[in-house]
Amino acid sequence: MSASILANGFREEPYWWEAFRPQSITAPALPRQADVVVVGGGYAGLSAARALADAGIQSVVVEAGEFGSGASTRSGGGVSAGLSVGKSFTGKALAYSPELVREVVGSAIAAYRSLRELIDSEKIDCHFEERGRFLGACAASHYAELEARHAKLVAGGATSCRLITKAEQREEIGSDYYHGGLVFETAGKLHPALFYGGLLAAVRRRNSITLAGHCRATGLARDGDGWRVATSMGEVRTRHVVIATNGYTGDLVPSLKRRVVPIASHIIATEELPEGLPLKLCPRGRTFSETRRVLHYYRLSPDGRRVIFGGRARFTEIPGELRAKLLHKSLVERFPELAGIKVTHTWQGNVAFTYDALPHAGEIEGLHFALGCNGSGVSMMPYLGDAVGRAIAGRLHKLPLAEAPLPPIPFYSGNPWFLPAVGGAFRALDWFDEHVR
Ligand SMILES: Cc1cc2nc3c(=O)[nH]c(=O)nc-3n(C[C@H](O)[C@H](O)[C@H](O)COP(=O)(O)OP(=O)(O)OC[C@H]3O[C@@H](n4cnc5c(N)ncnc54)[C@H](O)[C@@H]3O)c2cc1C
Repeated sequence: MSASILANGFREEPYWWEAFRPQSITAPALPRQADVVVVGGGYAGLSAARALADAGIQSVVVEAGEFGSGASTRSGGGVSAGLSVGKSFTGKALAYSPELVREVVGSAIAAYRSLRELIDSEKIDCHFEERGRFLGACAASHYAELEARHAKLVAGGATSCRLITKAEQREEIGSDYYHGGLVFETAGKLHPALFYGGLLAAVRRRNSITLAGHCRATGLARDGDGWRVATSMGEVRTRHVVIATNGYTGDLVPSLKRRVVPIASHIIATEELPEGLPLKLCPRGRTFSETRRVLHYYRLSPDGRRVIFGGRARFTEIPGELRAKLLHKSLVERFPELAGIKVTHTWQGNVAFTYDALPHAGEIEGLHFALGCNGSGVSMMPYLGDAVGRAIAGRLHKLPLAEAPLPPIPFYSGNPWFLPAVGGAFRALDWFDEHVR
């Protein structure tokens, strides 16, 4: 272990938590009856509760841990108006119909707009900046695939993306690592924990919402037209239940557990870089991601001094020092001048992948859900949570992406035992693409 890459005071928790930490909010007691019980207090669950409150509907949000302990305060904070229209987590190429591509593009743009409206209307100070995203091609063959993807996106209605050749690349990123790429102008970045804190504050301003932290939903039983929800704090009877547990979806609803695969995502934050270097690496303040199967995503911190560098170093949880070492190595492969820069923070969290690589909101067995961020949920999960809340209130008649129901995953019972093997195979395929093909 090269201990030298770890800065003095190295911490195994999100850099973002220095500005806003998850909150221990406990209800003195759960109400025995609620219009709606929302399970999961991340962006999706809070947004559902907020939409319900604005329609005069009372809800209880039960959160197993502290509010903000899930993925919502841990992300890279990249915000895109796009969604993947390429491959599923199994590596299978996805054949979406042109109508579905249009629907996907439209939903991603609507989610992005709705995030901006939410930030404005609730006056959330979370360093949102619209500086665009660069998607780097990790192999020459990937650039050819990006050309095809660009054509598909344009046909689907995307207007703000353009191809960047390798010769033009240095205008976008201070690295020669990529073989060109695709720029999405309608993309930005924010401080994910401050955004969460602002959303939580907005929810707390609405008196009809009860927040119950350290309260796990443990069972659901039909009760006439509604449900009895068993929790670690007792039982609540309710008309509707919203499941908003994304990458932390457990045994509560087995049919949902079989439809989402939790995958760990890992991040490091570096120490402050020498004056002038951040601008050289990131001349336009963009966020970055890649075409590899095991991709990395990165950006500068809101003060423009550190690199926040993430990726699926492994698909499962791993020790912090190993995570820091793996990600630092990948960082230096992209920016060799960062070899001597140390890591101050590292952390991880879970995202949820679906078989069709799309996020979903809908109903299953009479339960409402918003799940399946596929790694991009900063704008999509609040949007889907809000949509579910409005649909329950009768204020929305068609949920986003309603034509594509959340599909089961063939031969998957909810135990992702295969993830280490899939991660290893993907890394091997990435190596083959980058060195042989
Ligand atoms: C490391 C990392 C980097 C990421 N980077 C980006 C990025 O740059 N851009 C982007 O768009 N997205 C990114 N994401 C994804 C994004 O963070 C998520 O999509 C989003 O936060 C999901 O919000 P959510 O509300 O659906 O789930 P979460 O915030 O994960 O909340 C789910 C909650 O459900 C609770 N829960 C589970 N079961 C129960 C139960 N039985 N009872 C009560 N509570 C329960 C959990 O405790 C958890 O708090 C990243 C995610 C991670 C982990």
